[in-house]
Amino acid sequence: MEIADLPLPPDLAAGYARRGITELYPPQAACVEAGLFSGKNLLVAIPTASGKTLVAEMAMHHQVERGGKCLYIVPLRALASEKFEEFSGKGLRVGIATGDFDRRDEYLGRNDIIVATSEKVDSLLRNRTPWLAEITLLVVDEVHLIDDPSRGATLEMVIAKLRHKNPGMQIIALSATIGNPRDLAGWLDAGLVESEWRPVDLREGVFLEDGIRFADSIREVERKSKYEDLDLVLDTVAEGGQCLVFVSSRRNAEAFAKRAASGLKVANPVLAGYAEKIRSGASTDMGRILAACVAQGAAFHHAGLSREERGIVEAGFREGQIKVISSTPTLAAGLNLPARRVIVRDYLRFSAGEGMLPIPVREYRQMAGRAGRPRLDPYGEAVLIAKSEEMVDELFDYYIEAEAEDVRSRCADEAVLCTHILSLIATGFTRETGEVLRFMDGTFYAYQGESPRALSRAIDRVLEFLREAEMITEVGEWLEPTEYGSLVSRLYIDPRSAEVIVKAMTGRKDYTDIGFLHLLCTTPDMPTLFVRKNDMYALDRFLADHRDELWMEIPWDAGEEFDRSLKTALLLGDWADEIGEDVICERYSAGPGDVYGMVESVAWLVHASRHLARLFAPHLADPIEEMELRTKHGIKKELLPLIKLRGIGRVRARRLFNNGIDSVEALREAGPEKVGKILGQGIAAQIFEQLEGRREEIAESGEEQSTLSRFG
Ligand code: ADP
Repeated sequence: MEIADLPLPPDLAAGYARRGITELYPPQAACVEAGLFSGKNLLVAIPTASGKTLVAEMAMHHQVERGGKCLYIVPLRALASEKFEEFSGKGLRVGIATGDFDRRDEYLGRNDIIVATSEKVDSLLRNRTPWLAEITLLVVDEVHLIDDPSRGATLEMVIAKLRHKNPGMQIIALSATIGNPRDLAGWLDAGLVESEWRPVDLREGVFLEDGIRFADSIREVERKSKYEDLDLVLDTVAEGGQCLVFVSSRRNAEAFAKRAASGLKVANPVLAGYAEKIRSGASTDMGRILAACVAQGAAFHHAGLSREERGIVEAGFREGQIKVISSTPTLAAGLNLPARRVIVRDYLRFSAGEGMLPIPVREYRQMAGRAGRPRLDPYGEAVLIAKSEEMVDELFDYYIEAEAEDVRSRCADEAVLCTHILSLIATGFTRETGEVLRFMDGTFYAYQGESPRALSRAIDRVLEFLREAEMITEVGEWLEPTEYGSLVSRLYIDPRSAEVIVKAMTGRKDYTDIGFLHLLCTTPDMPTLFVRKNDMYALDRFLADHRDELWMEIPWDAGEEFDRSLKTALLLGDWADEIGEDVICERYSAGPGDVYGMVESVAWLVHASRHLARLFAPHLADPIEEMELRTKHGIKKELLPLIKLRGIGRVRARRLFNNGIDSVEALREAGPEKVGKILGQGIAAQIFEQLEGRREEIAESGEEQSTLSRFG
């Protein structure tokens, strides 16, 4: 099917033609035949890189030409930026909704396409964002993630709410291959387009001793070392390809990159340039190790990397300079980096309480699907590694020839229901107990017919919790949110977190930094750090000196959870006391990416706490407001006046302060020349421009600034 024959704006078709896209791939043609351009709902379950995004993009342009508006939901923020860039510059107004969760972002409504994460859409629904009612096409990327234990329910509820709100809306759901696509399509009233077609041939096999066994052939691999994984990489690089190696942990990713670097030794000036860039920005040993590996053509990739490090690694790989990346499996979903050979080295993963478990087939598929770059590689290879003949057969059965798992709803989980039921009531979606049940009837959970009694019992318990917490009131069947309940829903925190915070605040006379941070670290919204044996000494010593600063009694049976919350609070306390990032990473065995994630989570909880304090403990609101800025920027109190200026983060503010400039007035007095000597002329000019022209903006811009030192 020719693109020129489709009902698309001519400019879009011309743009595709310039990129060599003139004909639809077979599964794309199947989407058109199934009603893509006539408003039909579709579930597109086809392999990675077979052109799903393009299908969605064509449908969006078609909709907008007819006066519609499109919402594109992605699972991760990084993907939101990627899609935003992909859709931009093609004639439509494209917006991206990230950022704070308690805003309505009305200005976004001016766009034709809005890209957002499911959490962000959920929060926009809670804040009754008017333009959501105008959405005529909903695209859900990676819809199989409704099976995700921690975030799946939000995605499912968001889809259910939007359908409830906009009954005529077209839905295009994109998915990797799954076991039960018919179920999912049935729930969405969607036509199913299912295919195994791929633009590049994918060969899946198992390596043993000195060869890869494919279903119908064996490919010999020259053994140059005692490491199978390394030899598999060298084999591909020797024929001009690149490799992705999936391993089970960060430590393994780093260890493999080192091994690959010393095996590859492909040093050249371009790689040296990347390495220097990483080294100059590195504040940790991890960064320095990464630089050393990259200098020799290998890299690792995991959530501990800073954004800059990740960017350099990805660009270096795309440009073909970095020959191999070892990565943790959690990144398989987000990493859009195809390679000729994908090695799924560790298919067992540690699961708390259950030991080592095999990863799901769907995850294996997601990794294997990265093999083969369209138009660049003659084929893609996905390789597992076996230790014996029996294992070869097992791996074929378990992964290569297996069906992907079914997608199941996660909606019956009470913790998740609690958040969502409160939001249904707070936003007026449902006004009676019966209506809550009827709304839940529209979920995938109900569609799958899974134990309706269990769901209704769970709903009863949740309503009881919300009533007791005084987040809702119930008169007969009639449900209403209280001021507290509405606030919690808008703030987008777990009602159980709100209860923990409010209970501790109302019983508290004095404010302490560490007590407050620790309290937040005990809520279900806060991810906490893993505690090692050698952390215990520092934790005990802290408790010996500062026990009375905590806002809660130490439980008599305090266990790992308590230790984790305390360790995390200490990290955040260090952050707000301006301890250097390198020291923090070292002290808490964390990467800059982890610190960033932790700071982001806590900053949101501090923000929410400020609003809760206004309602329940006004005497704590001011110090909490200060802490909000301190956690956001990682600064001591004395830098607060300086941080309000755009372009000044924790590092620059500290430099000014140490040179005797401690306020906006002092800055003015010092003048551009002196400030230029401290911060550089460019920055000084920018600051004085702000000081002169746009005084009103200064106060506001303080809110918008970024957090970590690397922005400073
Ligand atoms: P997916 O979303 O399924 O992972 P994408 O839509 O991102 O896949 O497509 C993968 C790559 O293939 C992109 O670079 C895209 O431009 C290209 N592509 C998509 N459709 C076609 C087509 N019909 N002909 C040629 N290239 C295509």
